Amino acid sequence: MISDFRSDTLTKPTPAMLQAMFSAEVGDDVFGEDPSITALELKAAVLFGKEAALFCPSGTMANQIAIKAHTSSPGELICDQLSHVYLYEVGGIAFHSGLSVSLTASPLGIITPEDILARINPETDLHKPITELVVLENTCNKGGGSCYELERMQAIGKTCREKGLKLHLDGARIFNAAVAKGYSPIEIGAEFNSISICLSKGLGAPVGSLLLGETGFIRRAKRLRKLFGGGMRQAGYLAAAGIYALDHHIDRLAEDHSRARILGAALSELHYIEEVFPVETNIVIARLNASINIPDFLKNLSEMGVKAVPFGPQLIRFVTHLDVDDRHIDYAISVLKKI
Ligand SMILES: *Cc1c(COP(=O)(O)O)cnc(C)c1O
Repeated sequence: MISDFRSDTLTKPTPAMLQAMFSAEVGDDVFGEDPSITALELKAAVLFGKEAALFCPSGTMANQIAIKAHTSSPGELICDQLSHVYLYEVGGIAFHSGLSVSLTASPLGIITPEDILARINPETDLHKPITELVVLENTCNKGGGSCYELERMQAIGKTCREKGLKLHLDGARIFNAAVAKGYSPIEIGAEFNSISICLSKGLGAPVGSLLLGETGFIRRAKRLRKLFGGGMRQAGYLAAAGIYALDHHIDRLAEDHSRARILGAALSELHYIEEVFPVETNIVIARLNASINIPDFLKNLSEMGVKAVPFGPQLIRFVTHLDVDDRHIDYAISVLKKI
């Protein structure tokens, strides 16, 4: 048995999703003629109460397009030190947009309005780049799938509007947060100028992300997508998987969360585990005793059919997803107990 917890990006399309892909109507999307992509963009925009949306090949591209479309160099954006846009997008903030970054150090990556207020550069100071954009990540991957409360997002939205800052949400796993916390996409959409969502994580589509925002913003984003080489042609086959995922795979995320809680609780009982981050969604991060060599540990684990990834000093990460069921959890726990 293989229990693969390395990432929720590993899922393969279900037979029903594949069927939807096979029967997709397609056209050339650079000409604006792919009905499946158009339908997916409209569906996602309506879901979050935004005017328009743009289908992108990856979440990284959607985030980087958003950052560039919202800002002008020399400027600065505020995000947490744990954020994906800062850590895992190859320095794209500097490379694509020529911005500097002011990092917050908020617990589990969840920023406060005060964190933002403390980092806004006064426009009168000629030494400083102008603060233009704030990026939140919900759920926060490096925070162990930590979630924002709706009230916190609303308070940050208000702060950004008052201070004239744009606010982008890296919502790669926003549906995990919405299901865990019980807020609606419309409530989330109201607070942000733009939102990126991943179809290829917990929702189980093979490829694709969406960027959502106002019409003028999405028009600029579309040109940037072409600049980045992300204008796709008959990608409606992929969009059809995204439509299927939005229709069928959101509510079931609660199952991933309860399995993650079971795994997290079992991990916290083990003698070689020092700490398990609070399990709020589908990510479980555990800190191992200093005596344990992480690469050796993960190699042993993998040889016994349980896969996880290293995630920082003495940290390992497990992610539950569509292709993990109760048997995978039971098996993993039995292996972790005897290793
Ligand atoms: C996965 C992820 C992304 C985008 O990743 P891609 O692999 O480029 O699709 C962005 N932000 C977060 C928090 C993620 O976990």
